[in-house]
Amino acid sequence: MSVVKIKDITQALEAWAPNATQQSYDNVGLQVGDPNHVVNTCLIALDLTPGLIDEAVEAQAELIITHHPLIFRPLKSITTSRWHGALIHRLIKHDIALYCIHTNLDAAYDGVSFALAEQLGLEQISFLRPTPNAMVKLVTFVPLSHLDGVREALKNAGAGHIGEYEGCSFVTEGTGYFSPGEHADPTIGKARGPEERVHEARLEVELPGWKVSSATNALQEAHPYEEVAFDVVPMQKADTRTGMGAIGTLPIPLPLASFLNRVTHTLETPSAQFVGDENAMVKRIAVCGGSGSDLIGDAMRMGADAYVTADVTYHRFFEVLDTQGTPRMALINIGHYETEACTEELLTEWLDDRFEGVVFRKTKEKTSPVQYYISSKTNG
Ligand SMILES: [Zn+2]
Repeated sequence: MSVVKIKDITQALEAWAPNATQQSYDNVGLQVGDPNHVVNTCLIALDLTPGLIDEAVEAQAELIITHHPLIFRPLKSITTSRWHGALIHRLIKHDIALYCIHTNLDAAYDGVSFALAEQLGLEQISFLRPTPNAMVKLVTFVPLSHLDGVREALKNAGAGHIGEYEGCSFVTEGTGYFSPGEHADPTIGKARGPEERVHEARLEVELPGWKVSSATNALQEAHPYEEVAFDVVPMQKADTRTGMGAIGTLPIPLPLASFLNRVTHTLETPSAQFVGDENAMVKRIAVCGGSGSDLIGDAMRMGADAYVTADVTYHRFFEVLDTQGTPRMALINIGHYETEACTEELLTEWLDDRFEGVVFRKTKEKTSPVQYYISSKTNG
């Protein structure tokens, strides 16, 4: 059985949920530890807490993976008298690494919101907001002798993926001209030589903007020329392979009251705040794990009958009302932890399927510090 290192696990995760797709404010990746450390046991949780470190020590885990980053804002010190410092100190003392996969997992296909949608029984799930204007067109010019090699390299770098099709490209043939300068080391012709005239192909592929640097690196490696000509052209086209939130349909429409019952039971929460008509039937459902208030408008535009998310503040509930005060869509607000707890199962199963010989276990802890006080009928 081959040895699995931390970097093997993080590289696999980043092929699914690349760090480049994280939100600008986020801080994902390996936060504590040595990427070359061998992993036998990995503990998975939503948050890092003192109890979680106890659990990792007891399980002799070498790696903890959390959804929420521990190091989020710049730290000024790492001392045991403060929350972050105390946790980091303990991790290092016990030689436990910490890896965080946050908004890049939110943005990933089959990521957090897809898992939440599946948990609630939705089908035909897609992104609620595919990443807008994220696609670019990469155009390059290559001698015919190297066309197939360059096409293959760009395909392997993830370019030319359109819907269910891979390796999509368009090629036209034409003539390229160049005159090598004094210090040039040309593949065709010679330094200070005459003007060259080469039969070349113009190759076009589309790709998400965050893949441009890896694709252009692959292009430069596969291309025979000293100077590779290429254009990167922005497209007004969303990347449907990354995005925020999810939307799907219930196989059988339910009255909102029954759907609320499903939400609270499935997500193990004693209550939910909502706006909506309890008797209205709901079928098309939008969800977003974690703070999803900014997608309320998207959910309404996409024709959702109900939208389930967390951290909705009071004033935002008014956004779903029409001018008569009637809800245009049901808005359901539950706890942040409860909408994302599915992430623990998601990561555990995903990694378990890919790494033999490593024990991946989700925490037994409920890492949320938030409790619910259910009011009794009598006063005092
Ligand atoms: Zn969250």
